[in-house]
Amino acid sequence: MEQYAVEAAILKVYGSETLDYVTDEGVQIYGGMGYSSDAPMDRAYRDSRINRIFEGTNEINRMLAVDMMLKKAMKGDLDLMGPATAVANELLQIPDMSNGSDELFAAEKKTIANFKKAVLMVAGSAVQKLMMELAKEQEVLMNIADMLIDLYVAESLQLRIEKLAGMRGEAGCTEEIDMMRVFLYDAAERINKAGKDAINSYTSGDEQRMLLMGLKRFTKVAPVNVKESRRRIAAKLITENKYCY
Ligand SMILES: Cc1cc2nc3c(=O)[nH]c(=O)nc-3n(C[C@H](O)[C@H](O)[C@H](O)COP(=O)(O)OP(=O)(O)OC[C@H]3O[C@@H](n4cnc5c(N)ncnc54)[C@H](O)[C@@H]3O)c2cc1C
Repeated sequence: MEQYAVEAAILKVYGSETLDYVTDEGVQIYGGMGYSSDAPMDRAYRDSRINRIFEGTNEINRMLAVDMMLKKAMKGDLDLMGPATAVANELLQIPDMSNGSDELFAAEKKTIANFKKAVLMVAGSAVQKLMMELAKEQEVLMNIADMLIDLYVAESLQLRIEKLAGMRGEAGCTEEIDMMRVFLYDAAERINKAGKDAINSYTSGDEQRMLLMGLKRFTKVAPVNVKESRRRIAAKLITENKYCY
C-alpha cells in the first residue's frame, strides 16, 4: 500500500471533490426542492461532504502527496531532478510543434506529456529554489498537488479511453472521447493557473519570465468546442434516462 501512497492521496482528494461537485449539482437540479429533505439530495449532500474531512482532510492529503513524492525523490526511488533538468534545458530550444505521430490519440498523449513537463518544471524549480524551505511553503505544495492531481486524472482517463476504443472502436465511444477532450481542455487552464501561482511566489525577473513561458508552452491545447461536446455527453444520458457511462 505504501508503494501507492501518493496515488491513494490523489484519488482520495479527486474522488471526494468530484463527489461533492456531483452532489451539489444534484441539489441544484432539484431547485428549491433540492434543499428540502422531501427530495433525495439533502442526505447525499451531507453524506458526501464528510469525504473531504475524514481519512485525512483534503488539505493534508494534498500536502502529503507532494511531500511523499519529494521524499521518494530524495531517497533515490524516483528521479525527479533528472527529468526536471531535461525540461529546463528544453526551454532553451525551439518548441516542438508536431503532434508526435498519427497514432490514435497522439494529440492527447502529447498534451499529457506536456502536462508532465509542466509539473516537473514547477516541482523541480520549487525544490531548487526553496530547498528545505519548501516544506513551510504550503501554498506552493498545494499548487503542485493540484497540478499533480490533474495530470494523474488526465493520464488515467486517456489510458481508459484508449482501452475502451480498443474494445469498441473509436465510433463506439464518441461521448467518452468527448469527456477526455473536455477534461484535457479544462485541466490545461487549471494546471496553468496553479503553476503560475507557484512560479510567481518564488521567482522574479528573467527566471520568472522563462518559467512562465515554459508553462504556457506546456499547457497549450488545441481549441475544443466544449459546448457541443457537453451536449453530446448529456444527450446520451437524456436518451437513456440513466447513468450510461
Ligand atoms: C463522521 C466522522 C467520522 C470519523 N471517523 C473517524 C474514524 O473512524 N477514525 C478516526 O481516527 N477519525 C475519524 N474522524 C476524525 C477525522 O479523521 C478528523 O475530523 C479529521 O482528520 C480532521 O481533523 P480535525 O477534525 O481535528 O480537524 P483539524 O485537524 O483541526 O483541521 C481543521 C481544518 O484545518 C485544516 N488544516 C489543519 N492543519 C492544516 C495544515 N497544516 N495546513 C492546512 N490546513 C490545515 C484542515 O484541513 C481542516 O480543514 C471522523 C470524523 C467525522 C466527522
